[in-house]
Amino acid sequence: MHVFARRVASSSCRVFNRPRPLPHLHSRLPRLRLPLQPRNLDNLQNTSSASIRLRYYSSSASTMSEPVPSHLLADEKAPVCRLEIQPHFDNLSAKEKLYAHHISKASFAGTRVVLRQVSPQSEPLFDLVLTIARHVDNDFSKIQTLLPGVTEDEVNKFVDFGAQVLANLGNYKSFGDQKFVPRISEETFTKIAGVTPESAKIWEGIREQVYKIAPTEITLLGYPPQHMSAYYPDSPNINQEDIEACGKVFVQNGVLVEHTRLKQLEDGNFEMLVASEKVGEGKVYEVPDGRKIKTVYGDYSGEMKSMADELDAARKTALNETQEKMMEEYVKSFREGSLEAHKESQRYWIKDIGPTIETNIGFIETYRDPAGTKAYFEGWVAVVNKERTKVFGKLVERAGDFIPKLPWSKEFEKDKFQKPDFTSLEVLTFNSDGIPAGINIPNYDDIRMTLGFKNVSLGNVLNAKSPSERVTFIDEKDLPLFERLRGPAFELQVGLHELLGHGSGKLLQETEEGVYNFDKENPPVSPIDGKPVSTYYKVGETWGSVFGAHAASYEECRAECVAMYLCPDREILQVFGHTDDTEAAAEDVLYISYLQMARAGLLALEFWDPKSRKWGQAHMRARYSILQCFLSAPDNFVTLDSTAADQSDLTIHLDRSKIRSHGFKAVEQYLQKLHIYKASANVEAGVGLYEEMTSVNETMAQFRDVVMSKKQPRKQFVQANTTLSGDEVTIKEYDATREGLIQSWLDREDIVGAAKPY
Ligand SMILES: [Zn+2]
Repeated sequence: MHVFARRVASSSCRVFNRPRPLPHLHSRLPRLRLPLQPRNLDNLQNTSSASIRLRYYSSSASTMSEPVPSHLLADEKAPVCRLEIQPHFDNLSAKEKLYAHHISKASFAGTRVVLRQVSPQSEPLFDLVLTIARHVDNDFSKIQTLLPGVTEDEVNKFVDFGAQVLANLGNYKSFGDQKFVPRISEETFTKIAGVTPESAKIWEGIREQVYKIAPTEITLLGYPPQHMSAYYPDSPNINQEDIEACGKVFVQNGVLVEHTRLKQLEDGNFEMLVASEKVGEGKVYEVPDGRKIKTVYGDYSGEMKSMADELDAARKTALNETQEKMMEEYVKSFREGSLEAHKESQRYWIKDIGPTIETNIGFIETYRDPAGTKAYFEGWVAVVNKERTKVFGKLVERAGDFIPKLPWSKEFEKDKFQKPDFTSLEVLTFNSDGIPAGINIPNYDDIRMTLGFKNVSLGNVLNAKSPSERVTFIDEKDLPLFERLRGPAFELQVGLHELLGHGSGKLLQETEEGVYNFDKENPPVSPIDGKPVSTYYKVGETWGSVFGAHAASYEECRAECVAMYLCPDREILQVFGHTDDTEAAAEDVLYISYLQMARAGLLALEFWDPKSRKWGQAHMRARYSILQCFLSAPDNFVTLDSTAADQSDLTIHLDRSKIRSHGFKAVEQYLQKLHIYKASANVEAGVGLYEEMTSVNETMAQFRDVVMSKKQPRKQFVQANTTLSGDEVTIKEYDATREGLIQSWLDREDIVGAAKPY
């Protein structure tokens, strides 16, 4: 599962920079139930912007003359980031480079699979953008010379749209599943697409669909025929009922469908399209009403072959026997369309412990299928960050020195520190509709139960910076230091959060009838009120079952507070390589850690929904509460200042001379309560505290408007390419620009394949 959207669990961390959208943006359930006809359009000027939006949304008329609601327009000036990998790649041995290279190729071989899984327009759009880019040598200003009358601004908006299609591998956002349409008119787009006969022809076949935004449902992925879904190709009449009926048949027959699509034929029967190199027909199943489902192999046959060939090459350069067997199973799975072989590959993956190269490939995540059973393709390969692993190793080694510093006695702590499963990776290639910040797989429940899973954090995704990114809400005078040290400060925060945060603490339990893991007669004394605790977890109760819906965010908050509590410690700063004499000086890193947390708490307001007054994202809610904690410290430790009427100059000020005397003290009190209430199953006090700390008052609700107005589009990532000549692998990185992003895709033509004939 991707870490931004995984289900709630208490002890492992879902890493953060790709937070889950608010429920109303979520696509699986068709939530937007709006009238299909515009009501009284004359009254538009007197209505709120929200209801104007509804009316545009609900128009079922032709879209051409209607303005497109702003949330459906392509991003403008999206920050583009490079996935920094060169130094990590250079550290690899020749054999490791070869292994990584072939898996990278196999991952990119799946590009057209991803495109075909998003929408019918996605693959043609991908080809159109690259055809035009190739025609103008990736210098889009040439379009103005070639097509007099097209303005620079129009070309710019075309490139914005094109880059977004490449970054999402389709015309629906990977984050939120919402369609985006160009900011230029269909007419202008048609003019630009006419720059070559090939692109003109591609455009002719999709222009209407690309701009289609009515009825509203079509702008979100979901159940067909109202919503968009490419998991049910060429099936204009298929509906949720059909899909569920077939789903039941698959469950009854033990058929795994992650790597399939479902097609309904004109006569009402179905075909289950299986992703495989092999072409042919397989078993036939029957729906209770008599309709047949025929198994048809060979969906994406060409792509599956390329993948299998590259993975077979990777097998030959595998670094150990486990990897060799893992590759063998992947190859078998992709050639034959066997999901059992894929499951076997995942068993080997779990057994491949402490490798230098991590990888996973296949049909993994089911978020985008409305039925939640068919998965989209993703392939990735990453280098284990040895330096960070070393630092984290040192932290774990010294956990016995650091954990006793936390503000509770040893009765509230485990007898022996258990290192949480956590590896930090630097991604070479991540090919799918988007890139998460962390992953926890495999998803096959039977494997998770028996063999477990791996939890990986993608370091260069989390740390990615765009040259054009604006850091908001930070004072001018703090900006240079903030920009310079946000990476090291974040690393400090993540390391402490993951290892000593989630790794610390004990639950006071009655483990079986009459057996307690604490002294029942003399229960531990709470440092909060000096009295023995009176509550504990009864037999069968767990942290999740007792704290329910609050558990995930509460635990993230506890882990973040542990990080804020321990980062002022000079010894810990030293473990992370920061002293008074280092370039990233200890006290500066500490300052930026606190400032960054305060800023994250403010930005978190994006994930608070003013209508329902609810929080949508566990980490963000946690950080908001830590900002509240900072604000509660006396003597103006942290202030949010603004003089402009619209608060557009809102700035965070944090007094660095008061971190240890004020900020740390406030965190200490908050963390102590969070921890003791958790340890002692005191759900009443714990939830009460957490709700109070995460409540949003009028002032903060106003700040949310400022946060939203300064919100920048989602980052787009530019990834490197590797090339093999002889036995030597070289790596090529690209500029963090739209052109760099486009060039990286132009250079992948050998593996992705040239544009199809349209
Ligand atoms: Zn966490």
